Amino acid sequence: MTAGEELYKLVAELYPICRSITGDGVRRTLEIVDREVGGGLEVTEVPTGTEVLDWTVPREWNVRDAWVADPSGRKVIDFQASNLHLVSCSVPVRATVPLAELREHLFTLPDQPDRVPYRTAYYAERWGFCASQRVVDGLAEGDYEVCVDTTLADGHLTYGERLVEGQSTDEVLVSCHVCHPSLANDNLSGIAVASRLARLLAKGPRPRYSYRFLFIPGTIGSITWLARNQDRLDRVRHGLVLSGLGDPGGFTWKRSRRGDTVIDRAMAHVLGRSGRPHQLVDFSPYGYDERQYCSPGFNLPVGRLSRTPFATYPEYHTSADDLDFVGPGQLADSLEVCQEVVEVLEGDRTYLNLSPKGEPQLGKRGLYGQIGGRSDAEERQMAMLWVLNLSDGGMSLLEVAERAGLPFALVAEAAGALEAAGLLSRTAGG
Ligand code: ZN
Repeated sequence: MTAGEELYKLVAELYPICRSITGDGVRRTLEIVDREVGGGLEVTEVPTGTEVLDWTVPREWNVRDAWVADPSGRKVIDFQASNLHLVSCSVPVRATVPLAELREHLFTLPDQPDRVPYRTAYYAERWGFCASQRVVDGLAEGDYEVCVDTTLADGHLTYGERLVEGQSTDEVLVSCHVCHPSLANDNLSGIAVASRLARLLAKGPRPRYSYRFLFIPGTIGSITWLARNQDRLDRVRHGLVLSGLGDPGGFTWKRSRRGDTVIDRAMAHVLGRSGRPHQLVDFSPYGYDERQYCSPGFNLPVGRLSRTPFATYPEYHTSADDLDFVGPGQLADSLEVCQEVVEVLEGDRTYLNLSPKGEPQLGKRGLYGQIGGRSDAEERQMAMLWVLNLSDGGMSLLEVAERAGLPFALVAEAAGALEAAGLLSRTAGG
């Protein structure tokens, strides 16, 4: 199976589960994630009522069943057919109501009459159903039986964390949300790519950085994690939120609030050099969990990688964000971008030229003109000259690559050869 097929298979496995910001759907999802990351997922349960920053952990929501039956007793809207039909966090109700009253609890998409919307009632005492406009238009007058068999009770908020330990305690944070029901791109694509990246890093040689993967409910989950980890956030050196990585659109990197951190420049470099269609957009205080990581009191170096930005594609938050909307090729390509960025973060160092007066003679060290046959011989030589010239202790290899207009991997390779020849030394912390 190709990497893309494996990612897609995971998305398909997670798709039917009814997730919300709390409840057993999140737990079931995290069990699958634990298997996917190769074990070691640490699951945290935070009790209802816990104060987290300016918020409070809500009651836990679980669903047994939910449906609406027409006057003849036929189920016309049924949670068992799709979990999108029930407004997330609906309070329990058992009632018989006339059509006019039922309509007040129905949500549709008049512009997309065959699609079912995704709606939530977090932090509100409401119940509701989502259906296609076409189904609702076909409802006859009469009394409808409504069953929302849910529980909204003291329980827990659940999130998962997988740490891949590196040589340093400095961390790269990778965060994705796990709170949406059957929506493939908005949610499951991010979980799949993050899980696979964690597994690959855990299987490979011990990385330089430690990598902390968070699988958390949107907003309240990241707020809870931040509240519980406030005293150790200085370890977070780079971070990315992953979401919307399976659709056919080009890539979008939403910069961190700081705007010019290493992860921002690494992502711009990788996307820019690769020729992949992409856009770089500035931070704004709306979106996924980057909002919380980049709130002014934390201001972490965290941006967001997506394909088409959320809310700008018609399938967004509808039943059309399904298994046909995401593809194995897109998922695999998104994973590859993440891996390429990790390679830059891992390899980015700052060097000092130990022979800075005049160019050192490369020929006598076997570094010049003896690389015949390599199609990139000329570029490689240029990379050496750039690294030597700019390594006066302040410029990192990523900055050298940008200034030179050369691929990072080539610049890093050139630096390695120069270091081996005794011409460069790593600066402290480099
Ligand atoms: Zn969403």
